Amino acid sequence: MNSSTVALDSPETYPLMPTYGQPPVQFVRGSGTELYDREGNRYLDFLCGLAVTSLGHAHPAVAEALAEQARTLLHVSNLYETVPGLEVAETIDRLQGGGGQVFFCNSGAESLEGAIKLARRNGGHGKYVVVSALRSFHGRTLATLHATGQTEKHETFQPLPEGFRHVTYNDFDELEASIDPSCAAVLLEVVQGEGGVNVADGEYLKKVRELCDERQMLLMFDEVQTGFARTGEWFAWQHHFDPTNDVRPDVVTMAKALGNGVPIGAIWAKKEIAQAFQPGDHATTYGGQPLATSAARAVLRVMEAIDAPALATSAGDELMGKLLEVPNVVDTRGLGLLIAAEIDTDAVGKTGQEIALACLEEGLVVNGISPTAIRLAPPLTVSSEEIDEAMAKLSVVLGGG
Ligand SMILES: *Cc1c(COP(=O)(O)O)cnc(C)c1O
Repeated sequence: MNSSTVALDSPETYPLMPTYGQPPVQFVRGSGTELYDREGNRYLDFLCGLAVTSLGHAHPAVAEALAEQARTLLHVSNLYETVPGLEVAETIDRLQGGGGQVFFCNSGAESLEGAIKLARRNGGHGKYVVVSALRSFHGRTLATLHATGQTEKHETFQPLPEGFRHVTYNDFDELEASIDPSCAAVLLEVVQGEGGVNVADGEYLKKVRELCDERQMLLMFDEVQTGFARTGEWFAWQHHFDPTNDVRPDVVTMAKALGNGVPIGAIWAKKEIAQAFQPGDHATTYGGQPLATSAARAVLRVMEAIDAPALATSAGDELMGKLLEVPNVVDTRGLGLLIAAEIDTDAVGKTGQEIALACLEEGLVVNGISPTAIRLAPPLTVSSEEIDEAMAKLSVVLGGG
């Protein structure tokens, strides 16, 4: 057992606001799937900062791109053009199937804020409501908090910006019944990440696409967590739609894995929709600046070179299979390497959160996603040996010895 998983500081003297609770460990460095804390204890990172470091920690190509860009050009205003962002935008558009344009920002929530503004700009006067799903997660800014379908998170921050409506995930009839002419867009995660790793039904998504066409609404997929190969396709919507066909989303938001840890987000939209934005409608100081886009350029080059979606598919199959052999794991769900394991928590005598903490003490980073489940999202480059080692640690926690 690692000795470092004790409170690091007393709450009274801790310099950070208490938004995350008391951190149980201080990490000082990482390499690939491994993390090391300040005592030198080694951990396997099967969470990746919530699906961010998909190529593993301290990836040499990303580190080199950052160092090189820092020596060359760190920042100019978005009123001028710089080089790396153009390649990143072209690559994102190609991976989305082409025919679109990209706006860069700094985070997932910002990509959703921008997409919501684009939906309103495109909808025009009186057509502004964004319909999203219960148990969704879209960010923590005021508007994206309201888009997030977890009403218990709303109450303390009322009044929230208007123009949001929530319906049951995967329930087409309820969605259809909720639509009126004020609806500008339907916003969905293809796999609900924070909501518990809930996978959308493909037939549901196809019917939603048709409904959006019928009622002149945008179909917007939030791929902040699922994008960039995590689920075994470049974007999770490609499990259900053919990217070479125009029956696909109108807008896709993304962030997390794009910078492998460097803050960057992006909105992709079909060109005819992107054109609704006029100069001055939306902007950001840092979004698309060369340091972040040079990291993203390196990430995308590496991901394409190693065929990251294929790695996620094969490692995901292997991890799901091996999870079911761990004592007291009763079920798994997810896509590719975004996986939840349902646990017989009565038998184990711990909640999902407590299991995640016990895993940390064994040197395995995962998180509790519900009272009875943990989430696993290792790097797409995870090896079979690392999966076996992680399952051995999990078995110790879940009582298999
Ligand atoms: C993490 C996440 C966000 C918010 O991203 P931030 O970078 O934390 O603002 C939005 N949507 C989804 C689906 C996410 O997983």
